Amino acid sequence: MKIHEYQATQLFQKCGLPVAEGKVAAEAEDAKAIAETLGYPVVLKAQVLTGGRGKAGGVKVAKTEKELLRYFRQIKDLKIKGYPVEKILVVGALNIKQEYYFAATVDAAKGDIVLIVSFAGGVDIEEVARKTPEKIHKFYLNGEHGIDLDRWPEFVRKIFEGPSDQEKALKIANSLLRVFYEYDCSLAEINPLVVDGCGIWQTADAKVNIDDNALFRHPDLQGLRDMDYEDGDELEAKECNLSFVKLDGNVGCIVNGAGLAMATMDIIKILGGDPANFLDVGGSSNPEKVLNALRIILRNKDVKSILINIFGGITRCDDIAKGILEARSRLEFNVPLVIRLTGTNEDEAKEILQKENMEIYTSMREAVQKAVELAR
Ligand code: GDP
Ligand code: MN
Repeated sequence: MKIHEYQATQLFQKCGLPVAEGKVAAEAEDAKAIAETLGYPVVLKAQVLTGGRGKAGGVKVAKTEKELLRYFRQIKDLKIKGYPVEKILVVGALNIKQEYYFAATVDAAKGDIVLIVSFAGGVDIEEVARKTPEKIHKFYLNGEHGIDLDRWPEFVRKIFEGPSDQEKALKIANSLLRVFYEYDCSLAEINPLVVDGCGIWQTADAKVNIDDNALFRHPDLQGLRDMDYEDGDELEAKECNLSFVKLDGNVGCIVNGAGLAMATMDIIKILGGDPANFLDVGGSSNPEKVLNALRIILRNKDVKSILINIFGGITRCDDIAKGILEARSRLEFNVPLVIRLTGTNEDEAKEILQKENMEIYTSMREAVQKAVELAR
């Protein structure tokens, strides 16, 4: 889950990171009032869940009330990577001397947590990594919870000169790790961390991505999810306990088990088709799940055929068959259904479906072939 800068800033503050004072505004009048309490100049920052706001004109320094009102309108009218700007953060402007980059994230390939630090902050860090990877420095925790102080000095020397800055960098890194652990982040990023003309350090942008699988541990954060950025079908699937990922093909898929679901998508591809979704109805064979899955898939106007591929183990084929019949009586079907059932209670399932004149495949390849043909 991604959260907005103004929300991430609050988490930063709780964990001891130095943040600029500010507030978010939806209307120009509110922005004006915030700026008056902060004092000019202020920075206006579009709150959208995407990077590159600066480049898109979503970050502007206002020196006067007149400028503030003009920029507020301009930013409000922007669409940044397709997203409208609902709220604008108003913060006291900094006098930037140097911009650094700090992040804590998971390196999945290495199975470790890594701190990433660079003196080339403020700009698009992916581009820095591509063009001048030597400017990006990585400190792996090597499986430890915190920073190994024996290894740290050698690392920090590459980026910061002098013991005072090195000490500050350690404080920032420790606080950022606190954010990372406390909120089960997959990423906690400061870009930029600003050093001003007086040598004061301050975070000027805050990015926090929270691991969805850990959200149950943070009931207070769950409300921060911005529904404007979520796929409605995926949200509904989650509520129905279905693992569902929307894709852009036209063969709808209902499969039990993640492995079989992936194999099914592979075979659809191999046979020249394109899956419209990944969907795992899971191990239990509650007919309700099939009904919910079909309802979500049928809503997708790109879908031209639906393939149900069940290998019954714990899942009982007759339960799936009942779910299919239930769906047929309750939902409007405008696309053909291809059913492959094999395994536990296969015969009972066949009997149920054949009574309704529905064809059943036992070979996965034949079923996929048929579904792909029908989608053409
Ligand atoms: P991003 O483009 O979405 O990453 O947005 P940022 O919040 O990082 O802002 C982009 C750039 O705007 C920063 O790298 C800074 O150069 C500048 N900026 C951000 N905050 C301030 C500020 O308080 N004062 C000044 N002068 N510039 C700022
Ligand atoms: Mn930034």
